[in-house]
Amino acid sequence: MYLKSLDLFGFKSFAEKTHLDFEPGMTAVVGPNGCGKSNVADAVRWVLGEQRPTMMRGQSMEDCIFNGTDSHKALNMAEVSLTIGDCRTEPNFEYDEVCLTRRVFRSGESQYFLNRQPCRLKDLQRLFMDTGVGTDAYSIIEQGKIDRVLSSRPQDRRAVFEEASGITRFKNDKKEALRK
Ligand code: ATP
Ligand code: MG
Repeated sequence: MYLKSLDLFGFKSFAEKTHLDFEPGMTAVVGPNGCGKSNVADAVRWVLGEQRPTMMRGQSMEDCIFNGTDSHKALNMAEVSLTIGDCRTEPNFEYDEVCLTRRVFRSGESQYFLNRQPCRLKDLQRLFMDTGVGTDAYSIIEQGKIDRVLSSRPQDRRAVFEEASGITRFKNDKKEALRK
């Protein structure tokens, strides 16, 4: 499973439709200060369902929508699509490629799509549980995360190993069943 491409429209500084392909191997995003490098990482986290504005370096989710510059007027919607390749290496995946889309409007309405079909965030989260792909999984290692993992409580650190070993899904199912 790997990050294949990212499509952005109206997300933070990406006022125009932007398509980024990630070739196999390592990709470095380089550019001058303020050009939008971190916004690319924010987009990956956001499309995976991040709900905390602070994790998106903003005050509210509306800050994710392009808010205009001297040459472009503000937009009313942000959309990010993330294409993940080599999915069949994981159980639960019927197709080799999966495309996740998240869309949000200034009204606060939010939509999620899986291969262009509307779905719930919960379905996306469940599909990717135990794959390492997710807002709190280890596919996104932001500044300070390694330190946090090393200095966290043993039970919190254990969660990282549980995700890697593929049992988070079962622990979650158990929690839900007990709640019912
Ligand atoms: P650095 O090298 O300093 O880390 P960077 O390349 O990571 O910079 P980002 O933090 O990704 O830069 O981008 C910051 C830019 O994104 C700023 O110019 C900011 O104005 C712009 N930006 C953030 N949110 C929005 C938004 N909602 N609408 C328009 N522009 C935005
Ligand atoms: Mg940055």
